[in-house]
Amino acid sequence: MAILNTQALVLKGWKLGETSKIVALYTRDYGKIKVVAKGARDPKSQYRGCLEPLTHLNVIYYDKRTRDLQLLSKASIVRSPVQIIGNIEKTTLGLAMAELVSRAVEGEETLPPLFDLLSDSLQTLDSANGFLEGIIWYFETHFIRLMGYEPVWETCMACKDSLGAEGGFFHPDSGGLFCSRCGGKRGGFAVSGETLEILFWLQRCLLREVTALNVQPGQKAEIRKMFDLYFRTHIDHRKSLNALNIYYSLEGCA
Ligand SMILES: [Zn+2]
Repeated sequence: MAILNTQALVLKGWKLGETSKIVALYTRDYGKIKVVAKGARDPKSQYRGCLEPLTHLNVIYYDKRTRDLQLLSKASIVRSPVQIIGNIEKTTLGLAMAELVSRAVEGEETLPPLFDLLSDSLQTLDSANGFLEGIIWYFETHFIRLMGYEPVWETCMACKDSLGAEGGFFHPDSGGLFCSRCGGKRGGFAVSGETLEILFWLQRCLLREVTALNVQPGQKAEIRKMFDLYFRTHIDHRKSLNALNIYYSLEGCA
């Protein structure tokens, strides 16, 4: 058994017994783990207020490779998602990012850049105003890249011609788009040139710039659908992200 110390982001938690808790963490150095936090629901617990989803922690835990559940020894808060907790739109977007990591990352696969992407995206979401959905688009764009599935948005996969203002036909299975000449018979999802321009920009812009995006409803619908198709084709076939569906349903209530 080893005693390990790392930074971690809380993905989700479950009650255990009378006073304890199981918490899923995405750690910077040891990938995704589950820990038992003994007595965490006791009002006098050292973990009080620490283990809420999206909290950035420094943790010390006892690690035994042969076990699915590790034992938490200490947790201290690096950053609490204060503004996210008080805002339902930010909460659903933050939980959607956690859900994506939770569903797509296998066990203890270690990828520090993904930890940094999630941490930076949550920090930006916490303080941001403006077009908040841009933050999850940025997160999804770079998540797909880090998982090794980065699509090419600017050229046709068959003839390599630039797609430009004409747009193209998206084939999530093939990992990109075909132009109207090459893609006509292959089916696929038609995407406008304006939407492709935004997706191309998301691969290159800075995280803090995305909330300034001004997106037309048609482009927004296309981008949502493309990320969903991509996620379900390459990462998790079962269903769309639950938290993101809740976020979309809030829009209808606004
Ligand atoms: Zn073509």
